[in-house]
Amino acid sequence: PKPWLSPEAKPFVRIHKVTKKFGDFIAVDDVTLDIYRGELFCLLGGSGCGKSTLLRMLAGFETPTEGRIEIDGQDMAGIPPYDRPTNMMFQSYALFPHMTVEANVAYGLMREGMGRAEARDRVADMLRMVQLSKFARRKPHQLSGGQRQRVALARALVKRPKLLLLDEPLGALDKKLREETQYELIRIQETLGVTFIIVTHDQEEAMTLSTRIGVMNAGEIVQVGEPPEIYEFPKSRFVADFVGSVNIFEGRVSEDEPDYIRLDSPELGGTIHVGHGVSCRMNQQMWYAIRPEKIVVSRVRPEAEHNIVQGLVEEVLYMGNLSVFRIRLDSGKIIRATRANLSRQEHDAISWDERVWVSWGDTSGVVLTQ
Ligand code: ATP
Repeated sequence: PKPWLSPEAKPFVRIHKVTKKFGDFIAVDDVTLDIYRGELFCLLGGSGCGKSTLLRMLAGFETPTEGRIEIDGQDMAGIPPYDRPTNMMFQSYALFPHMTVEANVAYGLMREGMGRAEARDRVADMLRMVQLSKFARRKPHQLSGGQRQRVALARALVKRPKLLLLDEPLGALDKKLREETQYELIRIQETLGVTFIIVTHDQEEAMTLSTRIGVMNAGEIVQVGEPPEIYEFPKSRFVADFVGSVNIFEGRVSEDEPDYIRLDSPELGGTIHVGHGVSCRMNQQMWYAIRPEKIVVSRVRPEAEHNIVQGLVEEVLYMGNLSVFRIRLDSGKIIRATRANLSRQEHDAISWDERVWVSWGDTSGVVLTQ
């Protein structure tokens, strides 16, 4: 069940026309966004786009200049962080160095005045959940980065917040540990049913983790959608480029039919045939975005009628699972194409300095107006 697809579902978090200014500077610009119970929602964007500021407003560490935030049906205006049904986990996990893992996790509960026995049970449950039971008596400096990260997560979750806000939670981990911890996060989130909002600048992380992604640019949410939707149907060049690698061709509409359009593209050195109708006018400027893995590179001319050009391979990068080709088209434009390395011996592997055919299907890319 995907509540965001159901018009009756009630959002758990409502962000309504929220703006945050620091002096004259607009850090968050008129953001409206609904997030549903049980979601693992990622705010994705580059450095300085306002994602942390938005998260901090949800936590209550910043006050919106304009707009309204509701969590679980309650207006958050004037409600301090400790009275909100939220907890925040920061990038620098700030564990108490002199306390054991157990004591670090118990700290919040004890401060709330929970009895020792009950707190001990809760902490033990939580350490089991993050698979750190064996490390309960250690101090933070006796743990790896990933283990410390899990302690911080346990500490953030032990109070059973309804909403957990995580700012770059995996930022300090190396690639391998990051990937493992991503699965861990998903598992924990699904087990506990807590709603997660995660801030990240890492598009792969957002793709793997999220129920939905909100892409931010210059204080605005520029697109919201499930990961495949964001990847396959970006609405702008910004999103197409930010989420994954992409080739973009500028063009003008030269044919506008109900079931296809054509774009004249000097950048491509030809015409782009788009196999579905798009709302547009003749001669309108548009952009065609196509992912590297949707481009076919071959020595022999493919048998298609459209979307075929020639170029010169300038570079081949071997990445193990795939090879990345950098190709200079005859128009001068440089594109990237990838090919999966499916067999161990690619006898016919195309190498640099070869002339090749570059082609793609009529529905492989998207047409963008901005
Ligand atoms: P990063 O990934 O680098 O942390 P971000 O998207 O989380 O970036 P924010 O921390 O939300 O970005 O900051 C957004 C913008 O607001 C930045 O340009 C930042 O300099 C500015 N900003 C944030 N906090 C303040 C503040 N207290 N006073 C003035 N400007 C601020």
